[in-house]
Amino acid sequence: MILKKIKVAIAGNPNSGKTPPFNAITGARQHTGNWPGVTVEKKEGTVRLDGHEIHMVDLPGTYSLTAYSLEERLVRNLIIESKPDVLVNVVDLSNLDRNLYLTVQLLEMGVKVIIALNMMDVAQRRGIKVDENEHSELLKVRVILTNAKKGIGTKEILNQAIALAKAPVPLNGRGMIPYGAEVEVECAKIEEKFDIIPKDYDGLPNQWLAVKLLENDKEITKAFSDKSAKNGVPQQVQESRNRIDGSFGDTPEIVLTNTRYTFISKIIKQSVQIDKSDRVTVSESIDKVLTHRLFEPMILLAALYLVYMFTFQGSEPLVNSVEGLFSWIGGLVGEALSAGSLQSLVVSGIIHNND
Ligand code: GDP
Ligand code: MG
Repeated sequence: MILKKIKVAIAGNPNSGKTPPFNAITGARQHTGNWPGVTVEKKEGTVRLDGHEIHMVDLPGTYSLTAYSLEERLVRNLIIESKPDVLVNVVDLSNLDRNLYLTVQLLEMGVKVIIALNMMDVAQRRGIKVDENEHSELLKVRVILTNAKKGIGTKEILNQAIALAKAPVPLNGRGMIPYGAEVEVECAKIEEKFDIIPKDYDGLPNQWLAVKLLENDKEITKAFSDKSAKNGVPQQVQESRNRIDGSFGDTPEIVLTNTRYTFISKIIKQSVQIDKSDRVTVSESIDKVLTHRLFEPMILLAALYLVYMFTFQGSEPLVNSVEGLFSWIGGLVGEALSAGSLQSLVVSGIIHNND
């Protein structure tokens, strides 16, 4: 039987819970090495299921996909070069806005994504309630609620990954993020100048390339600088950057980052409810009292008063009992040793009993 190969990569912020589903799915059939040329751990594994050979890779944790850090470059280049069929994006539901910044960037790249909204137990404890259907509709992505620690949702991740890999067209890609008319017009102008797409970057949405050029992304700008120079890509990018700067009063980098965050807050507003009254954690309630504007100095003064009282009054019985103990030991030793310099050394010098 010919097995259909499926490449699945797991991405997410550090500590979002990527490793438990990876371990549960690949089990013993995994190996750990390093990413080529660097000392960042690479975990891979292959499993067979229902006529499929699924190759999984656990990607390094990242908050973003700008090409600044080593981890970000590794994740981005894996998407560009290895072209995973499906990307499982593990999202920490208890830290949704920060985690979705990576999600949005993955979607911009036009990869097939499924989202595991993880830490559902932590979120529940904090009163965070998510409408998965709404969330899924807004992002145009399949969403699965998971508790990676307990293995809840892991099987579903695998099933959905296989289903999505087999789906004929990417569910997302162009038009995924509403950049706004002005930015989109500039992107279109840049895309018009694309003649040859640099090697490795074909298959990615042209709009993503245009956005990256607008953002002055080092790697994409370099890739477009040689052959494309004669087609006027760099000139158009400069012109568009100036135009955006002029009309927004900010660099395109800032404008686009703000656009992503605005999109994220809209999604959260529409699909997530935070019930503050639901359950406040013990440490949060203690914090509330301790850091209260009025209570904080009062508690501080009370603590200082207690220390003062203890030092001068409360400590008396303790001091007396310690003195009593030493006097008793001194008495015992004094009786045991015959009078002389040894007795004097031990009783007066070491035990310090001058009775
Ligand atoms: P990674 O950096 O994304 O691989 O994150 P890890 O898998 O190392 O998870 C970070 C921590 O969160 C670990 O201590 C996990 O046990 C814990 N964790 C992962 N998923 C969940 C979850 O759904 N609920 C809870 N309470 N803890 C989780
Ligand atoms: Mg991990």
